[in-house]
Amino acid sequence: MAKKVKEVAREEKVSCADKFCPKHGEKPLKLRGRIFQGEVIKKFPKRAVISFERMFYVRKYERYEKRKTKIHARLPDCLKDKIDVGDTIRIAECRPISKMIHFVVIDKTSGGSDE
Ligand SMILES: [Zn+2]
Repeated sequence: MAKKVKEVAREEKVSCADKFCPKHGEKPLKLRGRIFQGEVIKKFPKRAVISFERMFYVRKYERYEKRKTKIHARLPDCLKDKIDVGDTIRIAECRPISKMIHFVVIDKTSGGSDE
């Protein structure tokens, strides 16, 4: 019985009023395009910055070098507490929300506690 109460409380916490949330709201944000996975390097209110490495081919040396990509993504209210700097998260492309943000955080793949 006590367990059930706990579950309800958690659902209440998860439901969010963020209008740019892909899962909640009357008109959820539509996702299309590319999906990336990377490490959170910075966290702001409603925004997270992720970074990941990609291989870049250098023709002159016929070898690959590592380059980094940084992407700013919208952090919906329902994921705000779950995600912290150092976690690995997945982001999906959406319509441009602002000048810098055209991705939204969809889930967490590792880091910290899974709760
Ligand atoms: Zn939400």
